[in-house]
Amino acid sequence: MAKKQFKAESKRLLDLMIHSIYTNREIFLRELISNASDALDKRYYLSLTDDNQRVDKDKLKIQLEVDKDLRTITLVDTGIGMTSSELENNLGTIAKSGSLEFKKELDKAEKDIDIIGQFGVGFYSAFMIAKKIIVETKSATTGESYAWISSGEDGYTISPITKEDIGTKIILELKDDTDEDNYSEYLDSFTIQQLVTKYSDYVRYPITMMIEST
Ligand code: ADP
Ligand code: MG
Repeated sequence: MAKKQFKAESKRLLDLMIHSIYTNREIFLRELISNASDALDKRYYLSLTDDNQRVDKDKLKIQLEVDKDLRTITLVDTGIGMTSSELENNLGTIAKSGSLEFKKELDKAEKDIDIIGQFGVGFYSAFMIAKKIIVETKSATTGESYAWISSGEDGYTISPITKEDIGTKIILELKDDTDEDNYSEYLDSFTIQQLVTKYSDYVRYPITMMIEST
């Protein structure tokens, strides 16, 4: 499967995320949950406007899971999903207009200013904590399913998969801990629950946490 390259502007932003000059890494979860919530809104809207897209309201939800052995955090939503071209356009070129402006602000801003939030850096913020991201998605509109896989700077691949449920599953493979940086803290389900309460209390869909059996 041929690797595709990120667009130049996205790449710069991606570098910033990967090398994590920004200290408030935990906001990655807020960004991913807000995307899931948007996707659920879109699916709900579609269900109201298209008889073939009916969905029970109680099926619209977000699930979180951590796996300490695999060092993964997984987010599952039953939102609208993405087609292959949506994957390409939405995840290959992020913050289309915002990123240049973001870079300028970042150069002059204090590190602790919440510019990432202001500029809606969004999905790429997951690269602050993940060395590899896998997005598995099934589109409500076309029924097709694809996986988008990226380890950051060296681009991404998009390939067809089989996926039963409409919606998106995002698997984050955490970076390795170093003397300076502890990423393993995000493998603690209690930490994750606290972050959900802190940042995502406003979300209108149920967010559940699968608890690891130990
Ligand atoms: P924004 O949310 O500001 O548009 P993001 O970087 O957070 O920017 O996300 C980029 C795009 O990727 C979204 O606009 C959306 O189209 C798509 N996307 C991201 N996560 C999901 C998801 N869980 N389900 C469906 N689409 C998603
Ligand atoms: Mg977003």
